[in-house]
Amino acid sequence: MTWRFAIVLEPAAPDDSRTDFTAGFREIDPSAPALSVGELSTQRGDGIFESIGVVDGHAQEVQAHLERLAHSARLCDLPIPHLEQWRQAVAVAASHCPPVGEGVIKLILSRGVEHGPAPTAWVTAAQAPDNTRVREDGIRVVTLDRGYSLDTPGRAPWLLLGAKTLSYAVNMAAIREAKRRGADDAIFVTSDGFVLEAPTASLVLRSGDRFVTPSPNAGILHGTTQLSLFDHLADIGHETAYETIPAATLAQADAAWLLSSVRLAAPITAIDGVELPVDRELTASINAYLLSPRD
Ligand code: PLP
Repeated sequence: MTWRFAIVLEPAAPDDSRTDFTAGFREIDPSAPALSVGELSTQRGDGIFESIGVVDGHAQEVQAHLERLAHSARLCDLPIPHLEQWRQAVAVAASHCPPVGEGVIKLILSRGVEHGPAPTAWVTAAQAPDNTRVREDGIRVVTLDRGYSLDTPGRAPWLLLGAKTLSYAVNMAAIREAKRRGADDAIFVTSDGFVLEAPTASLVLRSGDRFVTPSPNAGILHGTTQLSLFDHLADIGHETAYETIPAATLAQADAAWLLSSVRLAAPITAIDGVELPVDRELTASINAYLLSPRD
């Protein structure tokens, strides 16, 4: 990934009434070392983040990402981000993304330096990888046990399920395991056999004219891309639903996609070795929608 730009923010209190926060953004060299060795983000993965897709200089679904950042902060007992400050940081970062083509903006809020006075916050902008091939040709996935049951999030909120934390080592390990099994990506399932999400994406299934995704109350991230796509599908007359989906029914879907902010819609060509039909036309129209400016 080519890093183009990075700024550090002094996190503002939620009641800060300034209208312009840009004077407080400190630009840093994205290729130079920047974090203190005592940073809890690197020592413990103790922090949260967002990845925002940028298309032709337009940052997509900024409000939804900011709201999810605030949601993750609440779950992790981090100071609630001042949304206007972060919105302005996103706008500055977007102006450093390629004016044509795709970019990615990352927002990171960590608990800061050990025993330090304040959290650490920074925003980066980079060129996005070329995802054209996966959007067209699709991906093979395998199901992997996430190791907890459907009711775990309610019983054990300290697991921070549903927060977008910096602790993605498990998610990355799942993708490596999927590759060892000859697939490209994974779908997590609960130990009692229900579908959750992919390690870095949401899952959407189509049955006839109906589009379903696992209920986000099961300790998964509520994907901004899935939310946006469901709005669009409803606008053009399709039925959409959140459901508790048994893993045993996955292969019966008429079509399926993994959805995320930067890769967008990757059609699934096989689940656990069972081939799934790919609707190339529908997939192309979904990606055309996701590539259009979205707020
Ligand atoms: N689920 C997980 C675990 C993710 O990491 C992501 C994105 O990174 C998503 C779902 C999809 O979220 P979004 O569409 O907001 O990118």
